[in-house]
Amino acid sequence: MAVEFVLTGATILRGPDLTASQESWIKVGEDGCISALGNTPSENSNVLHFDASSMIICPAFLNAHTHVIDGFLKETGFGLPYWDVFMPPDGLRHQALSLTPDEVVKEQLGQTLDQMIACGTSLFVDFREGGRPGVKLLEEVAADRPIQPLTLGRFASYPPQPATALASNRGVLTEDALAEVSGIVEEGAGFSLISANDLTDEALAQVATQVRSLDGLLALHVAESPPYRETSIERTGQSDVHRVVDHLQPDFAVHLTFATPEEMQRLAEAGIPGVCCPRNHAVIGLGIPRFDLMLEAGMNVAIGTDNVILASPDPLAEIQFASRVIRALRADPSFPTASEMLKMITMNPARILGVDHERGSIEVGKRADLVLIDATTGNLAPVSDAVAALVNRATAADIRAVFNNGALAHGDPLDVIPHKV
Ligand SMILES: [Zn+2]
Repeated sequence: MAVEFVLTGATILRGPDLTASQESWIKVGEDGCISALGNTPSENSNVLHFDASSMIICPAFLNAHTHVIDGFLKETGFGLPYWDVFMPPDGLRHQALSLTPDEVVKEQLGQTLDQMIACGTSLFVDFREGGRPGVKLLEEVAADRPIQPLTLGRFASYPPQPATALASNRGVLTEDALAEVSGIVEEGAGFSLISANDLTDEALAQVATQVRSLDGLLALHVAESPPYRETSIERTGQSDVHRVVDHLQPDFAVHLTFATPEEMQRLAEAGIPGVCCPRNHAVIGLGIPRFDLMLEAGMNVAIGTDNVILASPDPLAEIQFASRVIRALRADPSFPTASEMLKMITMNPARILGVDHERGSIEVGKRADLVLIDATTGNLAPVSDAVAALVNRATAADIRAVFNNGALAHGDPLDVIPHKV
């Protein structure tokens, strides 16, 4: 149970459009939700008032794509090709995971989650391997921490269909495989595939039906690298993007680094959002996902930090890199705007994940999931444009406190909360 309090004097990024409102106050109720907002002096009452006049308050971040399990392997495979690091079963990451005791993995996972909280994250969507036990491991480590995982598990063993079925694109999943899908959705929040090439067209449709019947989230990597397309066309005559639209209709498609403009248009028309992870694809030499073109095509787009092995799970670092690299590629400093960048870690993922009624923006009635950024640090002061400052300059070191559902999740309360008025 949180305590009722008011933060006063802050610059608050209000509403879904992150409108900067100066010298504002925010009242947090005992239920941990925002009960009132204003920009006149707040009413005098017995409620605890805290001076936040040096703070920029923004909604907590939603990280739309992670693999948090590989934090114990930082920089393993740095400088090596994508396939050698990431592809099961022989990629370095998968070999290390299979050889490392759960206790070691869990300890590092806890540190990764603590770091994510300190970076302002209130919720993340993780693609987790290892079947139902893999989902359970992550859920257990996250359970006593102020951060919400949406864990999308995958089949325990690969390939989930015989190679001959995949090569001919004919064949359905067994009852056992469908039962495994159900168990994974029940343990976590949904189901993920590595790619559409995991399954035949018929099996993609089966998985979609099964996950939907259990109200789970469904997502996968799409157009992540050239072999995704080549293998898909070789087996089925269609790219993986088109097969995903035709047979799976996921809640979102991750990466799309190699999606064509026509494919982005098809995804936009089908209402399938994209989730892009620019730092990971840059460091592994795959390229830059053109989320700017996806936005222009009419897709909803969110940003994720992907594997901890090669990128810190830090949403501010991700959008700062993404903002700069897209401006460079377009030779145009005007798009996406700073608020469009910040929305990709706040309101856009909230909508994609169906949690926008309670998360993603600072509005009365929503959870008080808040990041307090110190506008007086040497890095940030003087702040002339709060949203641009967060996108273009702020780092996790400027974060003074993080609230999750009205409770302090990170930071020193005495730093943030100097006195009772
Ligand atoms: Zn991924």
